[in-house]
Amino acid sequence: MLRASEVSVRFGGVVAVDGVSFAVRSGETVGVVGPNGSGKSTLLNAICGLNRAGGALWIEDRPLRLGRPDRVRAAGLLRTFQTPQTFLELSCIENVLLSTSSRAAGGMLGALFARPRMWRADLRRIERGYAALQRVGLEALATRPAAGLSYGQHRYLEIARAIAGEPRILVMDEPSAGLNQAETENLLRLLRGLREDGMTLLVVDHKIDFLRRLCGRIIVLRLGRVIADGAPDEVFADQAVVEAYLGSA
Ligand code: ADP
Ligand code: MG
Repeated sequence: MLRASEVSVRFGGVVAVDGVSFAVRSGETVGVVGPNGSGKSTLLNAICGLNRAGGALWIEDRPLRLGRPDRVRAAGLLRTFQTPQTFLELSCIENVLLSTSSRAAGGMLGALFARPRMWRADLRRIERGYAALQRVGLEALATRPAAGLSYGQHRYLEIARAIAGEPRILVMDEPSAGLNQAETENLLRLLRGLREDGMTLLVVDHKIDFLRRLCGRIIVLRLGRVIADGAPDEVFADQAVVEAYLGSA
């Protein structure tokens, strides 16, 4: 589904991501962990085309130029951020609809000659948006401004927006950050549900227990490099991984 080869990102003298290669199969749920500053967010940005990066990327065996977020999105990849990127002045449903562009009969000509088709397409978008809000448990707040949401609800709203965009692969940066235990359990159920629907997931997170229960595979980054890639039990038993987190004895 997704393959990255020798992805590198540097900021001045700092090599934030240093030749990272990995692949994610269709339907797989892969976790990414690593100490703060190990390059996790920068790697996700590189994959999504949001920064200048070296290396190569394929989505479903199609090569994609790095640095082109439009192409990555068109190839079916959507992303959520470490700090939820929601628009406070918009309602929840409006936030969600941002990911559902209606390309079917858009533009001036569409407006002039294909209005019933545009309305039908818009109606379908709104239905999809409500279904996504329902999925994360925010449908009752659909028409309320996002400004009134709790921190956890902003995370769920951002996830609803991603779901409404019907990604084939969903990339998430620390989705459990700032969530309490009950909210984290909910998130786990939600993401397992998405996986059961066939969505491929790539999830950066700090909560090891959460990732262990969600993911079939874990990739560990340290100083911008992959130091482990395998089954959760193997990876978390690996001495190099333990040392990366806790320091050596
Ligand atoms: P993580 O998400 O694993 O905590 P980041 O990807 O945010 O790590 O950061 C990796 C490294 O890149 C860090 O050393 C960080 O200071 C640096 N970095 C990240 N973003 C920038 C930026 N926009 N400009 C300069 N340095 C950056
Ligand atoms: Mg980060």
